[in-house]
Amino acid sequence: MEGFSLDIRTLNFVMILFSVIYCIGLLLFQSAQKPIKGLSLFSLSIFIIGCGPLLLSFRGITPDYVSIIGSNMLIALGFHLTLYSLSLFRGYSTKLSQFSAILLLVVLIGFIYFTYYDPSIRGRVVVISLFLAFVTFCTAVVLVNGDNNDLSLVTKMMALPFVAYSVFMMMRVMTSISDAEIIDFMRASLVHQLTFLFSIILIVSMSFSMLWMINARLLRKNEHLLHQDPLTKLKNRRALNDTIAGFQKKAQRAPVSIVMSDIDNFKSINDHYGHLLGDDVIQAVANNTRKELKDSAVAFRLGGDEMMVIIPNCHLDEAKAWTNQLRQSIADIRLDTQPELQFTASFGIALLSPTANWQQSVEEADKALYQSKGNGRNMVSVAA
Ligand code: GH3
Ligand code: MG
Repeated sequence: MEGFSLDIRTLNFVMILFSVIYCIGLLLFQSAQKPIKGLSLFSLSIFIIGCGPLLLSFRGITPDYVSIIGSNMLIALGFHLTLYSLSLFRGYSTKLSQFSAILLLVVLIGFIYFTYYDPSIRGRVVVISLFLAFVTFCTAVVLVNGDNNDLSLVTKMMALPFVAYSVFMMMRVMTSISDAEIIDFMRASLVHQLTFLFSIILIVSMSFSMLWMINARLLRKNEHLLHQDPLTKLKNRRALNDTIAGFQKKAQRAPVSIVMSDIDNFKSINDHYGHLLGDDVIQAVANNTRKELKDSAVAFRLGGDEMMVIIPNCHLDEAKAWTNQLRQSIADIRLDTQPELQFTASFGIALLSPTANWQQSVEEADKALYQSKGNGRNMVSVAA
């Protein structure tokens, strides 16, 4: 590494440039869609991190408390806000950022001491590096352990440069303690030049990962909507097509029951009370079905007044007992808007075949359902 040297002024300029570009880019991105918790603050934190070095370059022009204390406090505040905003974004407790806010005060006191009472660039470098090592490590913890259901590959990828930065800051502390006192920071040794390089890498990578994470969230939300029936919020036929293979796999180990249901004489409800009330009836039946679901059972609305429940790990007789309970609870439903209206549903049950075409199993359940309809409705039948 002998003779290798980076120009701190240039690195400083590049860091400011990148932080401004990414801050503006992320803010514009945020303004173009529904607000995302923590994102605006995250963008601002990048900007503040970039403003720190800007003040540093005014050394000599402005008083020391602006160029030295101001710049370092801005950098510290920026990293603190990164931690806080990512805690909000990832749904992690803000305890760590509360602690880092207290440490900010300690850093301020350290800087006042090493600027006015015992002037020492080395002392200041050690103070800020220790703080940054702590706060970036906490940020990595928050990223990996947050509650929000983000793509784990991205959260890990975003955490990695924070861990690297934290380790680098600890190395900076060690070398600063063992090295001679720094006379001119702008011509300081390689480890201090690398600080700027690492900061640039961190700003670029965290902005990129943030965009990736938001994008993954949007995709997940779209997929969720694509699988959801808008009226009942049950899963829809597309969701059934996409998940049935998983249930068939389960059926290889333990029986999986299919329950088909259809509201009785629903057309006449529509005709007498109108389609809007018909919708209320479908919703009430769906809510009731969802409420009665146990363990890993899943309910789908296949269309019209037809619903289906898949119950893993469930024999036909167990399924029949559960369905009779559901049938009774549907017959007991009363709508607030039309308390005199009573309605029922009919059911057909079959086992899901682990190997054959699954539509065949659904047809069997359908046949059993028609048997219930034929035998007078408000009834549960099991496929032969
Ligand atoms: P059955 O007892 O034999 O099932 O008689 P039914 O009158 O319920 O007959 P069917 O199940 O075939 O009728 C379904 C009706 O549901 C037909 C259609 O007009 C109505 N429908 C389908 N989708 C909706 C919807 O989203 N809202 C409302 N209100 N009605 C719907
Ligand atoms: Mg019907």
